[in-house]
Amino acid sequence: MVVKNPLSPMASDPRPLEPDAAALLLALVAAAQAGAASEVPIGATLRDRHGRHLALVGNKPLLTVDPVGHAEMRALCLAAARVGNYRLGGTHLTVTLEPCPMCFEAASLARVATVGFGINRTKNSPEPCIPVQVSDASRRAEIARMLTFFFEPKRGICSNHRP
Ligand SMILES: [Zn+2]
Repeated sequence: MVVKNPLSPMASDPRPLEPDAAALLLALVAAAQAGAASEVPIGATLRDRHGRHLALVGNKPLLTVDPVGHAEMRALCLAAARVGNYRLGGTHLTVTLEPCPMCFEAASLARVATVGFGINRTKNSPEPCIPVQVSDASRRAEIARMLTFFFEPKRGICSNHRP
């Protein structure tokens, strides 16, 4: 589904929005780095309207002792600091996993034009408050594997230790 954010300066841009496989791949690398640091492996990148990356970050609430240290929030804050404006109109946020409600709302308030993600949250996903792009299937398996690899041992159901 692709719908443009009416709050974004790009709302009147007639060009179709295309999922960006390169942005998702970079977000996947950031997710892997977060996972290697024992954070939940989620990565995000924020690009401006010209495709330039303003931020590429992974989840980091544990290491930064920051309850809102989600990859998306970090990407928004880093990009805002870089451009010197909390409004990031015309930008595109790409995340490996569908953002939580807090991150969707923050992206909306920052005037992000679109949010793209590799895979959906599995249950109880609220209706997003900002337009979304769901990626093609090319990276879904990798992202799902990374999250499963991270969470299975914590749930005590690691396949390596099954009888
Ligand atoms: Zn979040």
